Amino acid sequence: MSAVDERKRAAVSAMLATAASKQRTESDGARSSIRRVGTVLAYFAICLLPGIGPAIAADAVPLPRERPAAANDQSASSDSEWTACDQRLTELAEFRPLPPIAGPGECTASDVVQLDAVRLPSDARVTLTPPATLRCPMAEAVTHWIRDDIAPAVVELGTSVRGVETADSFDCRPRNSIPGAKISEHGHANALDVSAFRLANRKSIELTSAHESKSLRQRFRDSACARFSTVLGNGADGYHETHVHLDIIARHDDYRICQWDVLDESEAAVRSAAKTAQASQAPKSAAATADIPLPRPRVDLPSPERHARARALRWSRAIR
Ligand SMILES: [Zn+2]
Repeated sequence: MSAVDERKRAAVSAMLATAASKQRTESDGARSSIRRVGTVLAYFAICLLPGIGPAIAADAVPLPRERPAAANDQSASSDSEWTACDQRLTELAEFRPLPPIAGPGECTASDVVQLDAVRLPSDARVTLTPPATLRCPMAEAVTHWIRDDIAPAVVELGTSVRGVETADSFDCRPRNSIPGAKISEHGHANALDVSAFRLANRKSIELTSAHESKSLRQRFRDSACARFSTVLGNGADGYHETHVHLDIIARHDDYRICQWDVLDESEAAVRSAAKTAQASQAPKSAAATADIPLPRPRVDLPSPERHARARALRWSRAIR
C-alpha cells in the first residue's frame, strides 16, 4: 500500500476513534443513536475515500478460485488442422474451427466450425445471430445459400441482407425433442434452424410468417430445397411453424424432403379455421356416442405418440 493510502487509512482510523470517544461521553439514552451515526459515518468514509474501500475489501474478502477450463469447452480455440472444406470456406465466410464433438452418446461430429458471418461478393457481412456450430460441409452449404440465393433475391427488393436469425444449430437431442426418437441431425452438427433474415433497411423477413411476401418466400424455399436434403417449414409436422429446418443428411438414392408450405394471409386464415373446426368437432362426435360428461376441448397440438405415428407413416419411405 502506498504512503498516500496509509495516510487515508490513518484518517479513517482517527474518525472511528472519534466516534467511539463520543459514544463514551454521551448519556445512556443517546448512546445507541450516536453509535449508529458513528458507524454510518465510518462506513461512508471507508467507501468514499478512493483506494481505501477497495483496499480494505480486498484484504477482507478472499478471491474466488480461478474457473477451470471445461473439458469440452467449444469456445476454446482449437489447434485442429484445417480441412479442405475449411480452406474453401475461408474465402467466403468468417468462422473458426472447433474441436470434434465426441458425445454424449451418439452426438458426434468431425470437421466442426463456428460460423459467424457470410461474406458477400460486395464484401458486406451477413452475421449469424447467434453464431452457428456446424460441420464444415453444412456451414459451406449455408454460406452458398445466403451468398448465392438469398442475397441476390433481397437486392431485388432495393435493400440487402445483413443478418440471419438462427434458432438452433448443434444440439444433442432426439428429433423434435421427442424422447426415444432417432437422434436429430442437430446432434451431428449437420442442421440449422433459421427464423428470419435481417435487412439493411432495418426490416426483417420472417420465413414462416404469412404477412411476408409469398413469392419471395417461395423463392427462398425453392433455393433451399435445391441445396439441402431436408427442408421443413410451415405444414411439415407442427414443429416447424416458426422456423425452417435445413440439413444435409445423406439418404439412399439422394432422396430429399422439401416440406414447407408457403402461405399468404388468406391461405393461412383458411388453414387456421380448418384446424379450429377440426378441434371443435372431436368432442361433439364423442358426445353423440357416449353418455358421459365431455372432456374439455383439446388444444390442437399433436401428442408425441400421435405425432410419432403420423411422422412414421409420412416418412416411411424416407430415412430422416
Ligand atoms: Zn431443426
